[in-house]
Amino acid sequence: MSTAVQTVQLTDAVTTAREALIAMGEQPGAHLGAHAEDAWAVSHYFAADLPGYRGWRWCVVVAGSPDSDEATVSEVVLLPSDGALLAPDWVPWKDRITAGDLGPGDRLAAPADDPRLVPGYVDTEDVDPIDADQVGQVAAEIGLGRKRLLSLDGREQAAQRWYDGEFGPESPIARGADYPCGTCGFYLPLAGALHAAFGACANEYSADGRVVSAEYGCGAHSDVPEPRGGAGSPAYDAYDDGSVEIVTAR
Ligand code: SF4
Repeated sequence: MSTAVQTVQLTDAVTTAREALIAMGEQPGAHLGAHAEDAWAVSHYFAADLPGYRGWRWCVVVAGSPDSDEATVSEVVLLPSDGALLAPDWVPWKDRITAGDLGPGDRLAAPADDPRLVPGYVDTEDVDPIDADQVGQVAAEIGLGRKRLLSLDGREQAAQRWYDGEFGPESPIARGADYPCGTCGFYLPLAGALHAAFGACANEYSADGRVVSAEYGCGAHSDVPEPRGGAGSPAYDAYDDGSVEIVTAR
């Protein structure tokens, strides 16, 4: 059998291709055309009317062989055509996850080359001034230190986020405050290299348990004076109606 004859036979095998789809329980629409893949394989295309697959079409590949006169079905697939409705590009989970997404039971591993972390034996200079060169060094030598530490990069990124964030000096609450956290009795400074710039707030009526910038501030600062007389808000003086002068309106 010549190649030309084989290709013509395969191109004519529309019924064979359609029956393959029907045998799968599908209901192919009109025959949309055929395309010779090579001398021994021809793809037949049929309209597909499937929910959620607008613009897709069935493709049935029929194949022959040098030793046979028969056209056999080698593959049935659903393929997108021009303008087909397609799923968005796949984005790996590690690239999709954003700050605040982590929930109970989730796991998020920092990659081995995460620039925010360095091995525990690297001196990041992030030690409490009191135990520098002493506790830190000894702990690392006898294997008690943490495996990985915050790198200089990681520390700078965190500091910038905190400074620019909700508890930084540019937030609306800080702008309206009279005193900064750095002078507040509820302020617990962090240990390590960020000691001078950040601490935790321990005031349950304010940013309790949050890392705040030393330049942040709120109206519950420990130095806010109590109101003169009464037990109202310190933002307002007590209203003394005895000092009001009553005048007759004209
Ligand atoms: S109470 Fe206010 S001023 Fe004091 S540490 Fe907390 S946030 Fe800062």
